[in-house]
Amino acid sequence: MEDIGFMCARCGGEVHDVTHNREGALDTVGYRHNRRVEPWDHALELAVGTAAPPDPTCDFCAAPDPSWLYYPTLDPEATDMFEVELDTTHLSDDDTAVAVLNMLYPWLACDTCSVLVADRNIDLLIERALERCPVPDDGPVDEETVRARLNGSLSVFFSTRPGRPQPSRAI
Ligand SMILES: [Zn+2]
Ligand SMILES: [Zn+2]
Repeated sequence: MEDIGFMCARCGGEVHDVTHNREGALDTVGYRHNRRVEPWDHALELAVGTAAPPDPTCDFCAAPDPSWLYYPTLDPEATDMFEVELDTTHLSDDDTAVAVLNMLYPWLACDTCSVLVADRNIDLLIERALERCPVPDDGPVDEETVRARLNGSLSVFFSTRPGRPQPSRAI
């Protein structure tokens, strides 16, 4: 049985609803790519179908065959309250929700990014991501938005995953 659900018609990727824990405001449709950082090369094209299993890529820089896996260290079910440091500078509500949801998901990293993670070097991680995947001039978002997304998601990542990664072949 194939799982029919929402997907992105453009890239075939999985989509998730980022609004379920947000009260009030039904301002925008709250669906986003189920990726650690929302892609910036195309806008989500919501469709119903079977999402393709994603090729594993580094969630920081999109390099193929990432070697390392960071599991979430936080279990929101086990605690009534938890704190994360989230840098919301220039972040939209939905981008903020995406960043916070990242607490719950594992992140994959290539060798280079895992070294940058060990150094907690957010600036270089962002530069590397933008170098490998430049923001297109005619893309859906500008570079400032992309930097805000990276900064927001990485700030949550670093406040919830201080530990060492595991080899990704474990999954
Ligand atoms: Zn897509
Ligand atoms: Zn990487």
